[in-house]
Amino acid sequence: MQPIVAKFGGSSLADAKQFRKVAEIVRADPDRRFIVVSAPGKRSSGDTKVTDLLYRCCELASAGKDHTPVLEQIRGRFEEIIRELGIAFALDAELDVIDRHLRTAPERDYMASRGEYLNAKLFAACLGFSFYDAAEAVRFAPDGRFLADETNALLSAALSPLERAVIPGFYGADETGRVHTFSRGGSDVTGALVARAVSARLYENWTDVSGMLFTDPRIVPNPGVIDHITYRELRELSYMGASVLHEDAVFPVRRAGIPINIRNTNRPDDPGTMISHDLPPAAAQRPITGVAGRKGFSALQVEMSLMNNEIGFGARLLSILAAHGVPFEHCPTGIDTMSVVVDTAAFNACREAVLRQIELQLRPDHLSVEDGLAMIAVVGHGMGGQRGIAARVFSAVAEAGVNIRMIDQGSSELNIIIGVDEADYENAVRGICRALSDATESENDG
Ligand code: ADP
Ligand code: ASP
Ligand code: MG
Repeated sequence: MQPIVAKFGGSSLADAKQFRKVAEIVRADPDRRFIVVSAPGKRSSGDTKVTDLLYRCCELASAGKDHTPVLEQIRGRFEEIIRELGIAFALDAELDVIDRHLRTAPERDYMASRGEYLNAKLFAACLGFSFYDAAEAVRFAPDGRFLADETNALLSAALSPLERAVIPGFYGADETGRVHTFSRGGSDVTGALVARAVSARLYENWTDVSGMLFTDPRIVPNPGVIDHITYRELRELSYMGASVLHEDAVFPVRRAGIPINIRNTNRPDDPGTMISHDLPPAAAQRPITGVAGRKGFSALQVEMSLMNNEIGFGARLLSILAAHGVPFEHCPTGIDTMSVVVDTAAFNACREAVLRQIELQLRPDHLSVEDGLAMIAVVGHGMGGQRGIAARVFSAVAEAGVNIRMIDQGSSELNIIIGVDEADYENAVRGICRALSDATESENDG
């Protein structure tokens, strides 16, 4: 039987009580042979993730300040788990290595990775599984680029002879052994890489909610769970801020056709969300699958008379951004106007230089930047060809008293993207969700 790869997030392994729950889940199905773990997360809303404590240690040590009180907090987190579970584990020796590292030349990625490293070692000891260090096979180039094919070959060769193993998420290393991490939440990516490498029949992603929710539960209370979703819909929603699964976790498993099942560690009997290439017929009927969004965008507005006649204008504008390493997110255009939506943080790193180059190379009639934009994505395969969805979404935003600053709809009709002021973001999301759920209810009633 092909194995199941199960990844457990930070809140699933935040303390000894959670370790016990997770151990029970793993033991309940002997096919759960490869387990990927995050560092201990928050135990309650006011708590701090071990990863954040590690980053803090690194900042203090790099600034020549005393990191020991924070390292002691980290020791406390792991000691409690070890004591309560009665695991034999040489924590002091491990923390001595980290302390020595901090006293020499502290590296941010190496430090951040130690939460996953220690948690995986501990959980392997708790389960009686082997520990396999991701640094051996999750491969990065020295400049930090992730190397997918090399990783797949190395991981698959390393894991196939193992009966059962616990693997730390979030990090890997380059060929010199220097540690690199994925972006935050990256243990989801490691889980997907392991699933592909061992040809898993299922990638389970265990977290603190019962699946992918229709929208962010921090904005709309109790949104429904999406029972089935396609990889493409999931990618759109997670890229746009549905933070339950890292946006890059889709690729490795999609390529291999391995379904993902998002599950709740605290409610293991809930079926969660299934993610696959196709939808069962009932799910394929629904027009909208979910709504997600995030803040922190800027729009560059470029105006130029007869822009439509100037072949290559758009390409030149985008190549200026590319030359400065700024990816563009959306690009709605008019006849003589072009807007390019970019991530504000990426743009700020080179704002002046980019604006200067646009003025110099393109000589526009008008150039301005609007900051403080939030983007909302309304996503669903079922919206393709269905009349009235966009009208419903836009009236909902208007009824919420929110001014729409930008609209973009991909030609695949998989999403509608709306730009609003950051201050209006939550209101707009609430309005859209209300209107879509009213519409679904009245369709069901009728
Ligand atoms: P883990 O530590 O298990 O990786 P995360 O915190 O990364 O968990 O992801 C789970 C959280 O994602 C949930 O607690 C929820 O607050 C948030 N979230 C945001 N949008 C969504 C959504 N659409 N569906 C489910 N959860 C969401
Ligand atoms: N521990 C890392 C973080 O907090 C990675 C993860 O949890 O997936 O981002
Ligand atoms: Mg996560």
